[in-house]
Amino acid sequence: MIEQPRIEEFQKDWDRYTSGLMSENEANLFKACWGLHVTRDGGWILKFRFPGGQMSPEQAEGLAGFLRKWVAEARARITPRQNIQVFDFAAEKLPLAMADLASFGLSTWRHPGAGMSTSSLCEKGAYCENSKLDPRPLLNALETWLGEHGKGYPAKFKVAFSACGNDCAYAGGHDVGLVATENEKGEKGYQVMGGGRLGEEPRPAFLLKAFVSETAAGPFLGSIVEAAKKLAKGNARARLGYILEEIGVEAFLAEAAKFKVTDFPKVEATAPKYSDPSEDGIPMTTGEEYRKFLDTNVFTQKDGEHLVAVVRVPFGWVTAAQWEVLAKVSRDFSNGELRLTQSQNIMIPMIHESNLQWVHYDLNQFGLGLAGAGYISDLSCCPGPKACDNAQDISAHEALAQFFALGDLGLDPGELAGAIKVSSCPNKCGNPELGSLALIGASWGEGAMKETGYKILMGGGKNPAGMRIGREVGACRAVRLGSVLRSLMERFKEEKHGDENFHQFCQRVSEGDPSPAQMWLQVYTDETGIGEPHMELVDGGA
Ligand code: SF4
Repeated sequence: MIEQPRIEEFQKDWDRYTSGLMSENEANLFKACWGLHVTRDGGWILKFRFPGGQMSPEQAEGLAGFLRKWVAEARARITPRQNIQVFDFAAEKLPLAMADLASFGLSTWRHPGAGMSTSSLCEKGAYCENSKLDPRPLLNALETWLGEHGKGYPAKFKVAFSACGNDCAYAGGHDVGLVATENEKGEKGYQVMGGGRLGEEPRPAFLLKAFVSETAAGPFLGSIVEAAKKLAKGNARARLGYILEEIGVEAFLAEAAKFKVTDFPKVEATAPKYSDPSEDGIPMTTGEEYRKFLDTNVFTQKDGEHLVAVVRVPFGWVTAAQWEVLAKVSRDFSNGELRLTQSQNIMIPMIHESNLQWVHYDLNQFGLGLAGAGYISDLSCCPGPKACDNAQDISAHEALAQFFALGDLGLDPGELAGAIKVSSCPNKCGNPELGSLALIGASWGEGAMKETGYKILMGGGKNPAGMRIGREVGACRAVRLGSVLRSLMERFKEEKHGDENFHQFCQRVSEGDPSPAQMWLQVYTDETGIGEPHMELVDGGA
């Protein structure tokens, strides 16, 4: 919720910003604190932060009301960092909309420093059968603490939590990553890593501490932030990884030890809330659609009793009416929890088995009963051309969604396990390098000769050794994308080994120099002006 004085502060700062009275640094901080972004065509984007993707039904309803009132298409987008973006604000509309936020119980305000992202959490979190502990109390405490102590932090700073060593959040690719674990005495805590990054120059993180208890983790994180802030000396490019490369882990930890953080909020686990079985009987099922949903979108949570339904949201777009039904389902059949995931989907936990058909029935009325979460039809992408100045103007998203619609490929869902990720430029927002198959927007030539297309990566994501960064296997012109995908799927059908799924296939055929995939795609690569694929990509373990 946002208070009136804060809104008045926004109005004053907005006037200064639009009058050109802010320095560039000041303007960047103003926009970052208010979750604002200007698009290349001068439109504005509002960013709502949901640490770890945690969202309440009240927030979902508030968002729906806000969208209906202020956004022409009345829809918002889940980002791969588990936040929400709302597009298409004209400058004259923005101050009025900001002043109206409180009436919807929402806020975009946060003051953690210009480059600090909200912390993210692994896909299934505490509900996963593998989870060692629930990272949410620590994650929330860190967000609160950063609200004050993150001020003045100059560089990008991204934190991720994974609830077990599988590290689905790829904590090892973040500035600070925490992976829940146990020590030899059976005490629960975290392995803490620092200085990792994804994107154009990926590098795995350094190990900062093999084990820190749940209670000690907060102050330790605080000391890392304080030391990094001091050593960055106001340099916007001084991410923690560069600091660690320069001075080494030992010297950095010695510096961190000088900061005694005593005001980190207490980390307290909240008792889980449970939902009740429905007394309304069973709805008319949606037959085949429900069976597929059950197969691919539902898992039993760690308590062994309740179910979690994953709502598949192609490219993360959710309309006002869909937010409303999500709020309703969460209240009626769950414990009032919704969670936005890094795959741009929404999880609804704590569902009684007897309620599951109702969940699907209600969701399906609003187009949210799609099967295929975690399969190749579950496409995710960066904010794209609408939001980002770097993005190539490629428009393959909708075509891709149709191409990969589950069931149209003549294969069983089990064979189609894998992730397809699209990023509109080499900045690789949305972590395409962790996709089984990734398409990265590219262009070549100038003026009238300029052409757009994709670099193609394969084999990213989890493998038995940890995490694998996808390897570049070729490129194609945008108009050839359909042919490339058809030919890859044909190869998969014909050349897969035994019960190998698409994800495992992509990892296998992207091995070697040249790899099989590289040779298959050579004809398409040659048609582009991109040149030889860059093969020096890094494999990074968690
Ligand atoms: S890291 Fe992955 S496997 Fe581990 S608890 Fe999280 S979602 Fe589950």
